[in-house]
Amino acid sequence: MEDFMVIGILKEIMEGEKRVAATPQTVKKMIADGYKVLVETGAGEGSFYNDDEYKAVGATITDTESIYHESEVILKVKEPLFNNILNIHEVDLLHSGQIIISFLHPASPDNHEMIKKLTAKGVTGLTLDGVPRISRAQSMDALSSMSSCAGYKGMLLAANAIAKFMPMITSAVGVVKPANVLVVGAGVAGLRGIATAKGLGAVVYAADIRPDANEQAKSLGAKIIDTGVPADIAVSQDGKYANKLPEEWLKVERESLKDIIAQADIVFLTALVFGKKAPILVDEEMVKLMQPGSCIADISIDQGGNCSITQPGVISQKHGVNIIGYKNIPGMLPASSTDMFSNNIYNLLKYLTVDGKIKLDLSDEIVKSILVCHEGVLLHEGTLEAMSQK
Ligand code: NAD
Repeated sequence: MEDFMVIGILKEIMEGEKRVAATPQTVKKMIADGYKVLVETGAGEGSFYNDDEYKAVGATITDTESIYHESEVILKVKEPLFNNILNIHEVDLLHSGQIIISFLHPASPDNHEMIKKLTAKGVTGLTLDGVPRISRAQSMDALSSMSSCAGYKGMLLAANAIAKFMPMITSAVGVVKPANVLVVGAGVAGLRGIATAKGLGAVVYAADIRPDANEQAKSLGAKIIDTGVPADIAVSQDGKYANKLPEEWLKVERESLKDIIAQADIVFLTALVFGKKAPILVDEEMVKLMQPGSCIADISIDQGGNCSITQPGVISQKHGVNIIGYKNIPGMLPASSTDMFSNNIYNLLKYLTVDGKIKLDLSDEIVKSILVCHEGVLLHEGTLEAMSQK
C-alpha cells in the first residue's frame, strides 16, 4: 500500500444529482496535504468543473472501477446506489477495509438493505448526516449547508407547483390574495424556506415543537401555530435537539395542524429528529382536507418523509394535491451546494486524519456520531432502532 492516502472522488449516479464531493479548490488542498487524489472522468461536470481543472491541481482522472479498486477513502455526496451503466450496485464495488464518507442516510428505510450489505462487506461507513450540532463540528456540518440549499430551492419548487401567485397582486380586476404557506419544522431548512416564502410575498405560518425554533421563525415574520406538544416532551435534556415523539403526541400534533393544513396552499415539511426516521405529521386523511391545486413539499424525504403518502424521488398527485418527494433538492442548486459540501467534507477528512491517514478515535463525540459501520459491525443507533421498527 502507498504511504500517502489515496482518495477517490466519484461521479454521482443518482438521477438528477449534479453535485460532486470535491472541487478543484478542495482537491488542491488535499494534494497540498500530501494525499493522492483520483477523480472520475466527468465527475465535476454537473457543477461546472471540467477534468482539466482537476488535472491542473494534480488529480489523476480515471474510470469508476479504478477509483473503487485503488482508493482507501471514497468521498461521495449520496449513498451507494445501483449503477445502471455498469449493472452493479455501488456497494458491490467497495471492498473490506475501505472507508466511505458520504450522506449514507442510514436510518431511512430505503437504505437499510444497502447499509446491511456495507456492514457485511467490512467497509467503514461514515455518514455526514451524523455530524453533531456542536461548535467545533460546524465547519464539517454538510447537513446544515445542504438544509440551507434545500430550504431555499425546495420553496421555489413548491411555489412553482401551485396554481396561484405567491404574493398579493393588485390588478385592474381586483386584489389577488397571497398564498398561505405552512412550514413544519423550523430548523435550518425550515427557516430558509420561511425567508424564501416571505421574500416571494406569501403569508407564512410555522410550527415546530422546539420553542427556540418558533422564536426564530417568528423573527423572520412567520405566524406560529401551536403543535400542542409541551416543551418538556419535545426538547432533549441539553435543549439542542427535538425528541422523537411517542405516537400519542404525534397524534396530538397532527390534530393541531389539521385546520391550518386545510387552508394552506403550500405545506413545507422539514421536521427531523437527529439520526432517526422522520416523524409522520401529515397522513392521507389530512391530505384529503387540502385544497385542490395545493402542494406538499416533503423536504425530509431522505429520512423517510413527514407525509405518509409521499412517493420518494418524484412529484406525484394525490387527492388533487401535488406532493413533492424529490430526494436531491440541494443537487438542483449544484454550484452553491457543491461549493458548501466540498468544503464541509474536506474539513471532516482533515479532522479524522492523523499523520496522513484516517485514524478513528472511537471515543470522540464526532466520530461516534458519524460512524455507521466498522469492521463488520453496524453501530449507528438510529439505524438499528429504525430497522427494528420495520
Ligand atoms: P433538524 O434538521 O434535525 O430538524 C429540523 C427541525 O424539525 C428542528 O427545528 C426540529 O425541532 C423540528 N422537529 C422535529 N420533530 C418535529 C415535530 N414532531 N414537529 C415539528 N417540528 C419538529 O434540525 P436542524 O435544522 O439541523 O437544526 C436544529 C437546531 O440546531 C437549529 O436551532 C440550529 O440553529 C441548530 N444547529 C446548530 C449547529 C451547531 O451548533 N453546530 C448546527 C446545525 C444546527
